[in-house]
Amino acid sequence: MKIYLDTIGCRLNQSEIETMARQFRAAGHEIVASADLADMAVVNTCAVTTEAAADSRGAIRRIARAGVEEIVATGCWATLYPKQAGDLPNVLRVVTNDRKDRLVLETLDLRPATFDIEPLVRVPLPGLHRRTRAFIKVQDGCDNRCTFCITTVARGAGRSRAVADVLLDIQSALDGGAKEVVLTGVHLGSWGYDLRSHLTELIKAIFRETDVPRLRLSSLEPWDLNADFFSLWTNPRLMPHLHLPLQSGSESTLRRMARKTTPDSFRALVAIARETIPDVAITTDIIAGFPGETEEEFAESMDFVCEMNFAGGHVFTFSPRPGTGAARMKGQVKPEVRKKRNRILREALEESAKSYRERFVGREMPVLWESTSEMGEWGWKMEGLTGNYLRVNAIAPSPRWNEVDQVRMESVFGDRLKGVIVKKG
Ligand code: SF4
Repeated sequence: MKIYLDTIGCRLNQSEIETMARQFRAAGHEIVASADLADMAVVNTCAVTTEAAADSRGAIRRIARAGVEEIVATGCWATLYPKQAGDLPNVLRVVTNDRKDRLVLETLDLRPATFDIEPLVRVPLPGLHRRTRAFIKVQDGCDNRCTFCITTVARGAGRSRAVADVLLDIQSALDGGAKEVVLTGVHLGSWGYDLRSHLTELIKAIFRETDVPRLRLSSLEPWDLNADFFSLWTNPRLMPHLHLPLQSGSESTLRRMARKTTPDSFRALVAIARETIPDVAITTDIIAGFPGETEEEFAESMDFVCEMNFAGGHVFTFSPRPGTGAARMKGQVKPEVRKKRNRILREALEESAKSYRERFVGREMPVLWESTSEMGEWGWKMEGLTGNYLRVNAIAPSPRWNEVDQVRMESVFGDRLKGVIVKKG
């Protein structure tokens, strides 16, 4: 069969469809680049915001219109609304998150005892979801109850994947030529809590058991980290980038969010990270217009965001998700005020991100090229990432996709840097 895999939302969803691709291929099926080429499709849906849920439904309708008669809906939105998902055109199967690991076996009606669908070498997905870097799922679910979060509802209790399974996936990615592996999960920092271990041990095992050249960590909740954790960065294979969701810089707002952090503890953690990891990029997530957020709380949050001098991040306009505590809270902020606060926060983040980028003009840094586009007589336009998550453009006489080159940073150019390749490989 020709199978099309689509995903909306987070890196975890991306890593899951990559695993499904390996399993379908192991069962003798072909993964195709677009729905119009497919006999069957799987859509890994998202519910993190109202927009993401709408995008998920839109993707399913688009695939049905492209002529795919058998669609499998899975992921967070389909888990929260299985009836609605099942009513969408050509959806013949809804696989909720708790059964997602067995989706390929169930869909192909295969018996685990008679069919081994592991391990195949990772091959980047064809088409839109092609990723140079390999996202590896190490953990699922979450035991926290942040009041705005629907993911913890859709993904269930926190659970860690075994070290051996993670190592197998990483090796399959490396055998497939991946130069960078990104560890991902719903609550990555809680890996090991159910195994009497800690993420630190998993990272040490990965460095001991594989020769992954670049290892990156996805989002980490600040309360899972301490000074010891940052000593891992003595290993140059660990990318100097920490994505620490702050969500708000106001203590009282953080309390209503049920976040296990405060501005003081966040400030202290960031200070240790910057002392310990040279050039570390600290990026973040912030919610604008959380219920009850007064002008004073917003001003407090803005001051803190400016003080933290982040290297970048995302600002989300609060989106009340049915089934969360925050959706039922009094003091919902007017949508136009949420949007205005979002814009102000974005401008502040962009300003600190720009000054962070400017620090690296004139420096030579390794860059992993993720995309190439031909520019005729001028050669090839390359786009890639440094270890500290700076996006870089450069021109090369030949395509350098998935290669790591030494690049001198020449200038800041919008949200990235312009560079010159000084040494290949
Ligand atoms: S820690 Fe993250 S995944 Fe867990 S409830 Fe909070 S925001 Fe959601």
